[in-house]
Amino acid sequence: MKSQDIRTKFLDFFKSKTHQIVSSAPMVTKNDPTLMFVNSGMAPFKEYFLGNGTPKSNRIADTQKCLRVSGKHNDLEEVGYDTYHHTMFEMLGNWSFGDYFKKEAIAWAWELLTEVYGIDPAILYVTVFEGSDEDGLKLDQEAYDLWKEIIPEDRILMGNKADNFWEMGSQGPCGPCSEIHVDIRSDEEKAKTSGANLVNMDHPHVVEIWNLVFMQYNRKADKSLEKLPAQHVDTGMGFERLCMVLQDVKSNYDTDVFTPIIREIETITNVEYGNDEKADVAIRVIADHVRAVSFSIADGQLPSNTGAGYVIRRILRRAVRYGFTFLNKKEPFIYRLVDVLDKKMGKAFPELKEQKQLIQNVIKEEEQSFLRTLDQGLVLLDRVIKNVNGKVVSGKKVFELKDTYGFPEDLTELILKENNLTYNHDEFNKLLGDRKEDGRKATAIQADDWVVVLEDDDEEFVGYDTLEVDVKLTKYRKIETQKEGVQYQLIFNLTPFYPEGGGQVGDKGYLQTQDNDIVYIIDTKKENNLIVHITKTLPKKLDVTFKAVVDAKQRSRTAANHTATHLLHQALREILGTHVEQKGSAVHSKYLRFDFSHFSKLSVEELRDVEDFVNARIEGKLPLIEKRNQPLAEATADGAMALFGEKYGDTVRSIRFGQSIELCGGTHVQNTADIWHFKIKSEGAVAAGIRRIEAITFDATREFYFENNRAYYEIKDVLNNPKDAVKAVTDLKDENSKLKKQIENLLKDKAKNLKGDLKNELEEINGVQFLAKQVDLDQNGIKNLAFELGGELKNLFLFFATAGENKVMLTCYISKELVAERGYDAGKVVRELGKLIHGGGGGQPFFATAGGKNPGGIPKAIERVKEYVK
Ligand code: ATP
Ligand code: MG
Repeated sequence: MKSQDIRTKFLDFFKSKTHQIVSSAPMVTKNDPTLMFVNSGMAPFKEYFLGNGTPKSNRIADTQKCLRVSGKHNDLEEVGYDTYHHTMFEMLGNWSFGDYFKKEAIAWAWELLTEVYGIDPAILYVTVFEGSDEDGLKLDQEAYDLWKEIIPEDRILMGNKADNFWEMGSQGPCGPCSEIHVDIRSDEEKAKTSGANLVNMDHPHVVEIWNLVFMQYNRKADKSLEKLPAQHVDTGMGFERLCMVLQDVKSNYDTDVFTPIIREIETITNVEYGNDEKADVAIRVIADHVRAVSFSIADGQLPSNTGAGYVIRRILRRAVRYGFTFLNKKEPFIYRLVDVLDKKMGKAFPELKEQKQLIQNVIKEEEQSFLRTLDQGLVLLDRVIKNVNGKVVSGKKVFELKDTYGFPEDLTELILKENNLTYNHDEFNKLLGDRKEDGRKATAIQADDWVVVLEDDDEEFVGYDTLEVDVKLTKYRKIETQKEGVQYQLIFNLTPFYPEGGGQVGDKGYLQTQDNDIVYIIDTKKENNLIVHITKTLPKKLDVTFKAVVDAKQRSRTAANHTATHLLHQALREILGTHVEQKGSAVHSKYLRFDFSHFSKLSVEELRDVEDFVNARIEGKLPLIEKRNQPLAEATADGAMALFGEKYGDTVRSIRFGQSIELCGGTHVQNTADIWHFKIKSEGAVAAGIRRIEAITFDATREFYFENNRAYYEIKDVLNNPKDAVKAVTDLKDENSKLKKQIENLLKDKAKNLKGDLKNELEEINGVQFLAKQVDLDQNGIKNLAFELGGELKNLFLFFATAGENKVMLTCYISKELVAERGYDAGKVVRELGKLIHGGGGGQPFFATAGGKNPGGIPKAIERVKEYVK
C-alpha cells in the first residue's frame, strides 16, 4: 500500500466513525510558552484539554506534523543511527473531547489495524499501565479487560509510569495509556526469543506504532492528582512506522516516504545506500533532516541564531556535517533534495509546494555559510593540533570551537583521532553542562496552580470595540522567573486588552477598583487560547468589579503601524511582484518591521515607490471594513490573503482597506488617514531571499523629520550658515583631502631630510652600523625610512622610538646579513625593551615593532639597545 493511501485510509476510517477531519496545524507553535514546536498530535488541541476553549467537534482526526528535537521529546541524537526515529514525522491521531473513552478507542484501533490495514494480529502486542505507588494509582483494569476481549492475555504487557502514564507537562491533564507494538522480526528470530521480551527494549523490529492516551487526571503544582471533570482520548500513531509495517520492510527509510529522497542522495553523492554503515547513517540523517528543515521553513520558521530558528539551524548543520564527513560533499547539495520532497509530499502539504523556491534558497545559503564555518574550523583545529602539549587537547579548546565557531565536537573528535589525539571530555562536558544550566535557569518558570475566583465560561475579547470596560477576575496564578521575578497572571470574564499575537505587541494599561486601588498591567499575552494579563502585584480585593483600561496612546500608535503593515504588504506585492510573501512581522507602538520573500536589494526608486504607494492610500482616507466571523472560504473568495504557518479556524476576521484584504486578528485604525504618514527607515537582508523593511508611522514620523531637521540646522550652524549646505560640506571634504595630500608630501620631504641627517649619525660598533634615536615621524614614515636606509647601507642596526599623543612605539630594523650571520633578532629586541614602555610587540628577526604607554621608558630603551650589538 502506498504511503498516500495509508494516510487517506486512516482519515477515511475515522470519518466513518463520525470524526471531523482537520488539517495539520503548523509545526511551529504560537501562544504556548512551554513549547517551541508541535511535538505530538495533542499539542494543537491543548487549549481544549485545558478547558480554555471548545473544539468544533468532540471527535476529530488528523495527521499532524511533529518535530522532536528539543525539550521533553528530543530524538535528534537517535536519528540516522536507528531506523525508526525521525526529527520530523507525521502523527496520525483520533481525538475524543469528553466524548468516547477507552472502549471505543481500543476497539477502533484494533479494527483499523487488523481489518482495514490487514495487519496480522499475531505480530501485535499491547501494553497497559501497571499502576504507581507514588501516585496511589492501581493497574488500569478497565483497559486490561477491554484488551482481553480481543487479544490473548500473554500479549498484554504491563507498562510502568515512564512508558505508560502520559503527562502534558509538569502540570495539567494526564492519564494512563495503552501502546500497540509490532514485532516484524523473521520467524527464526521469533522462535529464539518471544517478542514479549523485546517490547519497549529499543529493538528496531519490535517497535511501538500507536499510543492510546486516556486523559482522566489533572496534575497540580504540588504534584498531586485530581480527577478531570470530563475524560478525553488522545491517540498518536507514527505514520512512517505504520508504512514500514504495511510495506513489509524493516526500516522507515525503506518505505516510499523516504526511498525517492535516498535515491536522489545516491545520485548526487555517488554513494550507494546499504554498503557502509557510516555512509548509511549519513544518508538517513540527510533524508530525515531535509524534511524537518523544509517543513519548518514552509511553516515560517527560518534558521536563525536564537530560539526555534537556532534549533532548525542546528538540524540543518547536522545534515551538512554528516554529508561533509561521510559522503565527502564539500559544496551545498541538500537544497537539491527539496524537489523530490515536494513531489512526494507537496500534494498532502501544499505549503511545501508553494514555497519550494524559498526553501531551496534558504537551505542553500545556510549550507554555504556552514561549509565556510567548517573550513575555518579546520584551520583553527589545525593550529590546536600543532600547539598541543602531549596527547590530550583541553576540553576548553574543543568547547570554544563548538561554542564560538559552531564547529561540531564529534568532528573535532574524529580529526583528533586521525592525529592520534584525544580531548578532555570531562572538562568539555562540564562547560557544556554549565552553559545549558545557565540557559535553563534563565528560562525556567515556576508556576503555582490557578486560583479560581469566579466560575466562568470562555473569556471574551472586547478590545476591537472598546478600550475600557468593567471586568471581573475569574482566576489568577503566581509565576516566578529568574528574569522577571514574581509576577501574576490574571484572567477576566471579558477584556479589552489585546494579547500579543500576529506580530502585534500586547496591550498595556491598568485596573482600577471603586476604592481607587490601581494595578498596572504591564503586558498581555495569549497562552493556549487564554488571554493572560501580567501584573507585578495582585489587587487588594479580588472579588470586585474592576475598570480595565487599555493605554490608548500605545494602542493607537500600534494600530497605525499594523494598518501600515498591511498597506506595505500590498505595496510590495504590487511593485515587486506576487512572489512577495510575508515571512514575519513585528508591530510595535514605535515602529513596524516586515520580513518578506524577495531576491534582491530594493533600489532607491523601488523604496520610493513603496513609500509613495502607502502614503497615497493614507491620503486616500480609506475606511476600515472589518468582517468578523466570516467563513474562511468566503473570505478567501473575496481575495483575503492567508499566511503560511498560521492556524485558521472555520470562521475568520478579515480586514480591508481599499484593495488590501488580509485575514488578521490585530487592531487597526478606523481610517487610513489616522496613520498620518509612512516612512521607511531601513531595508536589508535577513536570510537568503528574505528582506526586511523597518518603518515608522504617525507621530513617530513627525519626530523623525523633526530630528533630521534639527540635525540639518546644527550642521549648517557649524558651517557658518552657508546658502547651500550640501555644497559647503562637499567643499570641505575636497579641501580636507587636498590638505591630507599636502601633509603627506611634507612628511615625505621631512623623512628625506631626516634620512640624510641620520646617515651622518650612524655609529660603527663591532662592524655594525648602529643607530638608536627618538624621532618625530608616524609609524609608516619610520618603516619607510628604515627600509630605505636598509636598501642603501649594509650591516645596519636601527632602533627608533616615537612618542605620540597616547602611544609610544619602538621599531627595530636589522639588516638580513646580520640576522643570518650573528643571529640578531629584532623581535626579541622589541619584546624585551617593550617592557620599559609598558607594552609589547613582535615581528620578524629583521623588522619588529612594539607599542606601549610609557614615554618615560624611551631613554632607557635607547641606552640599553646598544647591548645587543656589543
Ligand atoms: P518511542 O518510545 O518509540 O520513542 P514514544 O513513546 O516516544 O515512542 P509517543 O510519544 O507515544 O512515542 O508517540 C506516539 C507515536 O508516534 C509512537 O507510537 C510512534 O509510532 C510515533 N513516534 C514517536 N516518536 C517518533 C519519532 N521520533 N519518529 C517517528 N515516529 C515517532
Ligand atoms: Mg520517544
